[in-house]
Amino acid sequence: MTEAPKMEKDKSIPSPAKPLSKEELSFKVKEFPTKYGASVVGITTRETLAGGPPSANISYVLKSARSAVTFAVPLDEDKTCNYLGKIDREGHQKDYTRAGVIATGIAAQLASFVEQFGHKAVAVMSNLVFRNDKPGELNHRYPDISHRYLAVRGGLGWFGFSGNVLTPDHGPNVVFASIVTDAELDPTNPLPQEDNYCDDCQVCNASCPSGFFRNGRKDQVTIALGGIGFTYTKRRSYDRCSYVCSGHTGLHQSGRWSTWSPARFPIPKEDEDLAQHRSEASEAWLERPEPPGGGLQSPITYGKTKRDIPLTCGNCMHVCHPDKEERKRRMKLLQNGGVIIQHEDGSLQSVSPEEAKEHIAAMNPERRALYETRHPEALDPEHYFVLKHHSQYDKSKRVGSDLSKS
Ligand code: SF4
Ligand code: SF4
Repeated sequence: MTEAPKMEKDKSIPSPAKPLSKEELSFKVKEFPTKYGASVVGITTRETLAGGPPSANISYVLKSARSAVTFAVPLDEDKTCNYLGKIDREGHQKDYTRAGVIATGIAAQLASFVEQFGHKAVAVMSNLVFRNDKPGELNHRYPDISHRYLAVRGGLGWFGFSGNVLTPDHGPNVVFASIVTDAELDPTNPLPQEDNYCDDCQVCNASCPSGFFRNGRKDQVTIALGGIGFTYTKRRSYDRCSYVCSGHTGLHQSGRWSTWSPARFPIPKEDEDLAQHRSEASEAWLERPEPPGGGLQSPITYGKTKRDIPLTCGNCMHVCHPDKEERKRRMKLLQNGGVIIQHEDGSLQSVSPEEAKEHIAAMNPERRALYETRHPEALDPEHYFVLKHHSQYDKSKRVGSDLSKS
C-alpha cells in the first residue's frame, strides 16, 4: 500500500484570522494561557536564548523558530500537602496529571490560535517528551525543550538552590509547558534577582533521601541565555534522583520517614556505585504490585517495562514555598508522615518506622527481596545510606546468617 502524500499548507490561501501586529500578538499570547488557568507567562526569542544549553535551542522543535511562549499551571496546594504528609498519594497523582494535561492542552490550543494568524507554531508538552539521541536509554533523557531555561529567561521565576524554578506565588509547585513559533514576539525580561525568595534555607536538601544536593552551595552551575547568567547549585548524578524519584527506594537515611515508595534499598553515597544497586532495585520494582491511583505515562519506561511510574517523591519541589514558615511546616509534614509499607494487594499505608521494619522482617525471604536488598552483609554501611535500617541488619552481621543464604 502506498502512503498518502503529506498535504503541505497552500501558502496562497489566506489565514482564517485577520493578521495581528507583533505588539498585538505578543499581548494576546501572554493573556491567552492565563484565561485557561496559567499563573505566569513569559516570552523568549532566539536572541534572548542565544548561547544557552542545547535544550534551550528552540529550533530543535521548529527549524524556523523565532520565539517561544512558556507558562505555568499551579498544583493544588492541599493535595500537595496531603501527599507530603503521606495521607493521600492518589489525590496528588491525579492533580499532577490534571495540571499536566491542562498545561499541554493550553499549549495545543495556543499553537492552533497562533497558526490561525498565519504563523507556524508547535506545542511542547509539559513533560515526558525526550530527544531521540539515545533510543531506549532510560537514564540518558533530555527534553526537546527545557521549559526551565525558557521560564527563568522569560521572567516566570528564578532558579532556587535546588535548581527548580521558583515562581513568585506558587514556588516550584507548578507544571510548565510552551509553544515554539516562527512569529516574531516581544520578549519578556527575567525577574530581578534581588526579588528571588530563595534564602538558602536548605529545606529542599533536607527533604531529599537521595543526597542529590549533597555538594551544597560550593559547586554551582551558571548558564548564559542571551548574555544573562543564571546560576543554580550543581546537582549530583541525575541517576541518583531517578533512583529515588522513580520509586525504586524511598527510606530516608534517618530511617524515620520515607517517600511513597515502600522499598528500602541502599542508597550509595558515591555516584559510581549507583548502577550496581539500581539493577536489584529495578527488578524488585518490576515485581512489586502496582500501587492504586495510577502513574506517569512515560513511553520510554512503558516500552521497556510495561509499567507506569507512580509518583513517590518530588519532595524538593513540594516543600519549597515563597513563605519560609510554610516551608518549615511542609518539612515537618514530611518528617512526621511516617514510613510507607505495601500490602499484598498493592495498597500503600503509612506506619511508624518501627512497624514498617517489623512488617518487612515478617515477610518470607522471597517477598522481602521486593523491598530490600538480599545481601546487606556484602555492603559496607559506611558507604550506603539506609543499610542500617535493613530489617535483618543486625542478623546479617553474624557470619553464616540465614540472610546470607537467602
Ligand atoms: S527550599 Fe529553600 S533553599 Fe531550597 S530552593 Fe526553596 S527557598 Fe531555596
Ligand atoms: S525528586 Fe526526590 S529524589 Fe529527586 S531530587 Fe527531589 S527530593 Fe531528591
